Amino acid sequence: MTEKKHKLERLTGVKGMNDILPSDTGLWEFFENTVKAILHAYGYQNIRTPILEHTPLFRRSIGEVTDIVEKEMYSFVDSLNGKQLTMRPENTAAVVRSAIEHNLLYDGPKRLWYIGPMFRHERPQRGRYRQFHQVGVEALGFVGPDIDAEIILICQRLWNNLGLRDIRLELNSLGHKHERAAHRDQLIIYLERYIKLLDHDSKNRLYTNPLRVLDTKNPALQDIAANAPKLIDFLGDESLAHFEGLQSLLSANNISFTINPRLVRGLDYYNMTVFEWVTNKLGAQGTIGGGGRYDLLIKQLGGKPALACGWALGIERILELLRENNLVLSNDGCDVYIVHQGETARIRAFSIAEQLRNIGLDVILHCSVDNASVSFKSQMKLANASGATYAIILGDNEVWQDEVSIKPLRGNREIMDNAQQRVPVKSLVDFLAKVIAIPQKKEGISYNHK
Ligand code: AMP
Repeated sequence: MTEKKHKLERLTGVKGMNDILPSDTGLWEFFENTVKAILHAYGYQNIRTPILEHTPLFRRSIGEVTDIVEKEMYSFVDSLNGKQLTMRPENTAAVVRSAIEHNLLYDGPKRLWYIGPMFRHERPQRGRYRQFHQVGVEALGFVGPDIDAEIILICQRLWNNLGLRDIRLELNSLGHKHERAAHRDQLIIYLERYIKLLDHDSKNRLYTNPLRVLDTKNPALQDIAANAPKLIDFLGDESLAHFEGLQSLLSANNISFTINPRLVRGLDYYNMTVFEWVTNKLGAQGTIGGGGRYDLLIKQLGGKPALACGWALGIERILELLRENNLVLSNDGCDVYIVHQGETARIRAFSIAEQLRNIGLDVILHCSVDNASVSFKSQMKLANASGATYAIILGDNEVWQDEVSIKPLRGNREIMDNAQQRVPVKSLVDFLAKVIAIPQKKEGISYNHK
């Protein structure tokens, strides 16, 4: 009888959900650090909410007649308790839910920010994934338009600090509910005139969410949408004053913008100010992010009424722009890679590595990859490939003499004359402190003991 060989099926990731590999995480970390520094500079506090929320949270906030709720949510019933759950397609609703649940506004307004994965069951393509990442701010309890300007300034500073110059700001105002209602009546009358020309989605939205018809990407409907009654013509004095107030604050801060009367955003909770950041550099998926005011959402989700605004930016699209601009990140290898041979050298190498980490250096200690001892030559190859600036070498000879050899692998060569050099173990720290700029302050913790 021949023995059948069973080949194990190789598993792959889920379509539209990407692995972010070490070759790419440097760029992610660079972006995350840049954006975090800016958010801190504006006094925003980080909030972290779960990936899963009860489905009604999104249905009630984003709106029943939206692409996200109608077609894109990863929703399922928890078979253990029958609860309807959804993997967050966006995070404003969850932040508001959390702020209400934990009474975050009890002592005044809050400036919050988040970062993390979102999930939408869309057709994957460049710039559009089923798991993607957003960074966002939510400013809860502010009337605007100063806060509206502030959150836009944060984005502008981010583009500046990232060196991105091809992102434009588009602005609109959706006014108050009663103003939208008056516009809606006229819009329906207008769209009914073209009902035969409308596509399936637009027909469906004609009576449920006609504003979204203006947002259509269908080229055949562009003229109809462009000539439709404009919401801005229905805004009353208060809404107009808010909108104009925002525009003057932006102009005073040298932020350029265009007013796009058709900008409505894909989520129902917005009112008054809405905005989007767009670029021509990314093909069809040119919206980098957007936001606006959502003054009724907190009340709508059961909280004590409070005004609010926020934005969310798509991180994949920002990183794509950075790549388009050929951003080069500086080498982020370790300071030191320690190679060693022999049992005594290994023990000493551990202790040296820990001492160097104590003074703030980043150190890789060579570890066995199989049971055979690895030659110095192979270890040096690994040291080089790791991107480390220096190799520290510990062999029998060095151990005998209480020394180490130091070899510069890149940069700083001139300081050491490009040569390998012997240094006594006891003066190693001082020596490295001289040639490597050791960070002044490494993060530390302290405890408040009672
Ligand atoms: P939204 O919440 O739909 O306004 O999305 C805000 C930003 O998130 C967008 O402008 C995109 O940059 C990004 N985004 C939204 N959906 C996706 C997706 N499926 N894949 C990648 N990025 C997305």
